[in-house]
Amino acid sequence: QAEVIDTDALIVGAGPVGLFQVFELGLLEIKAHVVDALPYPGGQCVELYPDKPIYDIPAVPVCTGRELTDNLLKQVEPFHPTFHLGQEVTVVEKQADGRFRVETSRGTRFLARTVFIAAGVGAFQPRRLKLDGIERHEERQLFYRVKDPAQFAGKHLVIVGGGDSALDWANHFAQDGPHQAASVVLIHRRDGFRAAPASVARMRELCEAMKMQFLVGQVTGYEEADGRLSGVKVTGSDGVTRVVPLDMLLVFFGLSPKLGPIADWGLALERKQVVVDTEKFETSIPGIFAVGDINTYPGKKKLILCGFHEAALAAFGATSYVFPGKAIHLQYTTTSPKLHKALGVE
Ligand code: FAD
Repeated sequence: QAEVIDTDALIVGAGPVGLFQVFELGLLEIKAHVVDALPYPGGQCVELYPDKPIYDIPAVPVCTGRELTDNLLKQVEPFHPTFHLGQEVTVVEKQADGRFRVETSRGTRFLARTVFIAAGVGAFQPRRLKLDGIERHEERQLFYRVKDPAQFAGKHLVIVGGGDSALDWANHFAQDGPHQAASVVLIHRRDGFRAAPASVARMRELCEAMKMQFLVGQVTGYEEADGRLSGVKVTGSDGVTRVVPLDMLLVFFGLSPKLGPIADWGLALERKQVVVDTEKFETSIPGIFAVGDINTYPGKKKLILCGFHEAALAAFGATSYVFPGKAIHLQYTTTSPKLHKALGVE
């Protein structure tokens, strides 16, 4: 059994608001661990619009989703948060001593004095192939992400999708190299892609060199032999269904957010949002706070700048649990020697 991590604050979600929560807690000398289902921080800003400009961050006339995330990560550096990425928080349970038992999908366990839900629109999960019963092949022959590319080397691969992940992996496995597959068939519903032009050009090159085959069509069924997935049925634009044999099936349909386990933590919810007060942004369970897109209160607006304000007040709200009985005063980062020490700018 892995050890249990003891922490004053556990943040669920490394989107912009979860990241700024680290900063606000850090100023109050509360150290945080951060968990995110995605393998990288940034939430919607990185997942949905990394290169789009944002114009309404106070005092930052323009920055992209990725730049905002990079700057937030730089801003929290002095507080050395520990990130636990690529895992979803599944369990949050109050114990008799008032602390929270928290567990992730990868078995990481925490005992947290306070919990901050900064889970946005929920955990991003891969969109799955909607074919009855195909889920029993998941992680054996059907994959929605590549964790270990070596496991696909020398295999007959079918890759489905038309975005960057589908093309990048199709190119990777089709070209000469240590992970080269026995064969690669790329399937997309149309002959047009939502991927970087260079990846599309590379894919066409590999097809011309007979190292990859591209089929226009939709996966409408599958075939099994001896309990194993042996092929997919692909219906082309001509209406004809063909069977494409395979060893491994990789599907990249993008990610969609799911509220998921948060609904089971006993929190008061309103239309899938976590209800909070506007004094501390505390939920119906004392010690659990909710900030950013996940929460709701009268007048709520799903804006990054509103999430930042919520994170500041929630951090002050947490002090009564982390430092019971201690009076906490507001200090300015410009003038406070204590904050300068915390920020490492003495
Ligand atoms: P998110 O960014 O959604 O991050 C939440 C994170 O929590 C995710 O990474 C998710 O994986 C993780 N998570 C959820 N559940 C779990 C779990 N159980 N375990 C582990 N991790 C979990 N806002 C503006 O202010 N200005 C703009 O110009 C603007 N433009 C936008 C443009 C687009 C196209 C979109 C889609 C949104 C835009 N927004 C804009 C909205 C803004 O992106 C959101 O308000 C902001 O991302 C919310 O931040 P957050 O940290 O609350 O949540």
